Amino acid sequence: MVSYYVSTQPQPNGEHAVHRSGCEQLPDEPYRVFLGAFTDCHEAVLSAKRHFPYANGCTRCLQECHTG
Ligand SMILES: [Zn+2]
Repeated sequence: MVSYYVSTQPQPNGEHAVHRSGCEQLPDEPYRVFLGAFTDCHEAVLSAKRHFPYANGCTRCLQECHTG
């Protein structure tokens, strides 16, 4: 299980990046929301969308869950 976070600050395209713990682009507190531990990054992105509808996987650490 890996811990996931979503950034509270949108990117220029309006998306909120979802990161796994340890990503070099993971923002510090308070600019992130802890989502929980998931086995699958798709679950993490779905969870993030409950906070921010335009959540998307980080291009650095969650490329397999990045869409668009
Ligand atoms: Zn990341």
